[in-house]
Amino acid sequence: MRLDNGRQAAVRLASLAAWSKPGPGVTRLAFTPEHRSAIEVLTGQMEAAGLCVHLDCAGTLVGRLEGPPGAPTFLIGSHQDSVREGGAFDGIMGVVLAILAMEVLREEGSVLPFAVEILAFADEEGVRFPTALIGPRALAGTFDPAVLGMKDVDGISLRDALVGFGLDPDAISGLARDRATQLGYLEVHIEQGPVLEAVGDPLGVVTAICGIERHPVVLTGETGHAGTLPMTLRRDALVGAAELIVAVDRVARETPGLLGTVGTLDVAPGAVNAVPREVRTMIELRAPDDAVREAAGIALTSLAAEVAGARGLTLDMQRSYRQPATPCDPKLSDRLAAAVAAVIERPAPRLASGATHDASAMADLGPTAMLFVRCEGGVSHCPEEMASPDDMATAVAAIATFLRALAHPTES
Ligand SMILES: [Zn+2]
Repeated sequence: MRLDNGRQAAVRLASLAAWSKPGPGVTRLAFTPEHRSAIEVLTGQMEAAGLCVHLDCAGTLVGRLEGPPGAPTFLIGSHQDSVREGGAFDGIMGVVLAILAMEVLREEGSVLPFAVEILAFADEEGVRFPTALIGPRALAGTFDPAVLGMKDVDGISLRDALVGFGLDPDAISGLARDRATQLGYLEVHIEQGPVLEAVGDPLGVVTAICGIERHPVVLTGETGHAGTLPMTLRRDALVGAAELIVAVDRVARETPGLLGTVGTLDVAPGAVNAVPREVRTMIELRAPDDAVREAAGIALTSLAAEVAGARGLTLDMQRSYRQPATPCDPKLSDRLAAAVAAVIERPAPRLASGATHDASAMADLGPTAMLFVRCEGGVSHCPEEMASPDDMATAVAAIATFLRALAHPTES
């Protein structure tokens, strides 16, 4: 008996999860033997769904269902790689569910007026090399060949890893697609957060992938003996940092869509009986709206100066990293929301993605939409990461509904 699509997905993901380095959870990095094995399993699944499969020279496994001559191509993808000791769903679930949706369409005899390609990208997590998104950047024409010289912890360059995997790094720039031939890109991904669970919906449509900025902060005061330096004479860098951290939290809570985090703190001299002289920390801000994030960064920079001034501290703070937000395409997202609503029989929730995805690079190629699948307990990047079979079945139905509706633009 054939399992329903959700249980089928769970079985397939469990078998793919076995292709991992030994240890807890899944550790499957790009251009490794585990990656090769995952490609072989996915190739079998794609071929069984009637797709014509090849591996491109950026390591993206491509399963193509041909359309009528000259018809454009709709792309659906996500990544095969994991973080170290990660889960069995992040990334690869989006590939497996898309393949199952293609099986649904094939079994019911649906013929689409466009080609469809299912893409399993090699490297989204950026764990092995200090770069990521090679596959989607290659397709979007934004691949920077300079990253080929980057090395992993064993000193193997990305170029050598690609060659070792049987790929030609010098051909990557030739993978860039002609925008005119691309209908759009859909990415299906586990939410990696608790929002859908909280609202009680299996699926959600992503509005935008948040932009990110980071501000390293150094607050410097003066140390002294914890027992002899009177409170009125202190220039305590850690107390200043504490005020700043609370300000980051307050500004983020008061600003819709803004996420503010301080996740590191180095205190010197770091002794129980010494007034802290120096604190090094980092403020990270994320928001789906760049203007909101930029304004918060400016506001927090002046708040930090106020805090430092009031406590006699010197402040060194500047923005070291900035990644703009990637809005999803409104029209394609509305179509996706309509498909989800038809399947779950109520309006589809919308939410921003706080994490980066392949879609952020694919948006440079054309209209992009993202579908989130509810994540049990909101936990991700760990072995406990899980989407339920029922929710995955709902996602497969939504992908199939979405593709059918794309074939009939006037009816949606
Ligand atoms: Zn992912």
